Amino acid sequence: MTHPSHPTPHPSQITTRFAPSPTGLLHLGNVRTALLNWIYAKKHGGRFLLRFEDTDRDRSEQQYIDAIKDDLAWMGLAWDGDVLFQSEHAGNHSQALKKLADQGLAYRCFCSETQLNLDRKLATSRGLPPRYNGRCRDLNAAESARRAESEPFVWRLKVHADDGDVIVPDLLHGDTTFALRDLDDPVVVRSDGSFTFLLPNAVDDAIDGITHAVRGDDHLTNSAYQVWMLQKLGYAPPHYLHHGLLLGENGAKLSKRSGSHSVAELRDDGLLPGALFQAMARLGHPNMPDEAHSVAALTEYFNAEHVSTSSVRWSDDEMWRWHTRLLHELDVETLASMIQPYLPDVSAQRLTAFASLIGRNIDRAADVAHYQRLLDVHAPLDADALAVVRKAGGDFYQAALTAWNDATDVTDANESDWKGWAATVKTATGSKGRGLFMPLRVALSGAQHGPEMSAVVAFLDEYGEKDAVAIRLSDAKRLAGS
Ligand code: GLU
Repeated sequence: MTHPSHPTPHPSQITTRFAPSPTGLLHLGNVRTALLNWIYAKKHGGRFLLRFEDTDRDRSEQQYIDAIKDDLAWMGLAWDGDVLFQSEHAGNHSQALKKLADQGLAYRCFCSETQLNLDRKLATSRGLPPRYNGRCRDLNAAESARRAESEPFVWRLKVHADDGDVIVPDLLHGDTTFALRDLDDPVVVRSDGSFTFLLPNAVDDAIDGITHAVRGDDHLTNSAYQVWMLQKLGYAPPHYLHHGLLLGENGAKLSKRSGSHSVAELRDDGLLPGALFQAMARLGHPNMPDEAHSVAALTEYFNAEHVSTSSVRWSDDEMWRWHTRLLHELDVETLASMIQPYLPDVSAQRLTAFASLIGRNIDRAADVAHYQRLLDVHAPLDADALAVVRKAGGDFYQAALTAWNDATDVTDANESDWKGWAATVKTATGSKGRGLFMPLRVALSGAQHGPEMSAVVAFLDEYGEKDAVAIRLSDAKRLAGS
C-alpha cells in the first residue's frame, strides 16, 4: 500500500462520516459504506459522524432523516456528537465558491443544454471525450457579470485547463494520480442556484474535521475534483478509502430504486442486526475469521487494507445463514422474547422452556409454527406430517398409547424412559427405525425434525397440559383415520 504524500489533517483523532442524502431509505450499498466508516473509526479509537447532505431541498424529507437514524441505531452504528446537516453550512459553501471565483478558479457558464448536447455529439464524432469545450472558461469578469443579469448560468470549476496533476490520497488504491487535462470542468452550482454534491461535500469534510472518507469507488473522479478544490481553498484533503461497489445478487448495481432491500424491510422480517453486520463486514474482506461472531471481534479483526477494491455481490442467503448462527447463540430469555409474538398466548415460563427445547431447531423465529403442536394439540398438521400419521395408522398409535399408559415411570421422562417406551412400541407394532420414531415424533411435536425425543417427551410431561403425551397419541390415532 502506498501512503499518501500529503500532510495528515487532524492527526490527533481519526474522524469518519456517513453522509447520506435524506432522499430515500437506506439500501444495502449505503449500509455498507456506513458500516465501513463506523468500523474504521472504532478500530482506530476515532469518531464517526453522521451528516445529512440535505441541500436538495425539494427531495430531502424528514421521514428519511428519521428512518436513516433508526436504521443506523438498529444496526448499532451509533454516531458521535450531534447529527450534522449540510444545509447549516450554506454560508461556507457560498464563501468557498466566491474564494474560488476570486482566484479565477470558478466561472459562470452560460451554455444552454442544447448547445452542450451538440458539443458532446461533435466531440464524440471526432473520437474525443464528451467534455465541456471551454466556451465560457475565459470570459472576462465584467462580461460574465453583465450576462448574468439577463441569462441563466451555472458555475463550473476551472480544472481542465489547469496545469499538472492532482493526487487523490487513497488508502485502498494507493495515491491515484489524475492529469488535470483529462478532467472536465465540473458544474458546482446549477442554474437554479443550488450546489451540486461536489463543493458542499468537500467543504463540509474540511469543516467537520473528517480525516478519512470511506466511500464507493464510483466517487473516485469526484475525489480528484474535490482534492483539487480543497487544495485551492487551502484545506488539507482527507484520506479516502474508495471501496469496490456492492452489487445485487444479479450483479447489477444497487440503488434506491433498484428494488434492493431497505433496512426497514429486513427489520420487519425479524432479521437480527448482528446478521446484517456480519454479512456486511465480511463482504470483500477475505481474512475475517469465521469465529468472530460479535461486533467487537469483527472490529478487532477489521483491516481496511483488506477491503476489496473490486465489486462484491450481495447474498441474502449468506445474511440469513448468519442470522441462524446468531439465533442459535442467543440466551434462552432473548430467544423467548423473539418468538413471543408468534405465540402470544403461551405463559412466560412455558415459552422459555419451549424456546430452550426447540431453539437449535429453528432458523428464524417464525419457524416455531412448525412445533406448535408441542404447545397445542389442536395445532393443525401440515400435509407431510399428516401423511406420516396416516401411513403409521390407527393401530400403531393405539399400541403406542397402551404402552405409554402401561409404563409406570415415564412421567419423569428421561432418556431411558423414552427408550423403554419406544422399545415396547417396537415390540407391539413391529415397526422400527424411521418407521417407529417418525410417527411418534410427528404425533407429539407436529414436525418431522426436531430435538431429541427424550427432550420432547420430558417437555410435554412437565410443561404440557395434563396427559399431554396421551392426548397427542389419541389425536394422532383419530387423524390416522382407523
Ligand atoms: N451524499 C453523498 C452520497 O450519498 C455522499 C458521498 C460521500 O460519502 O462522500 O453519495
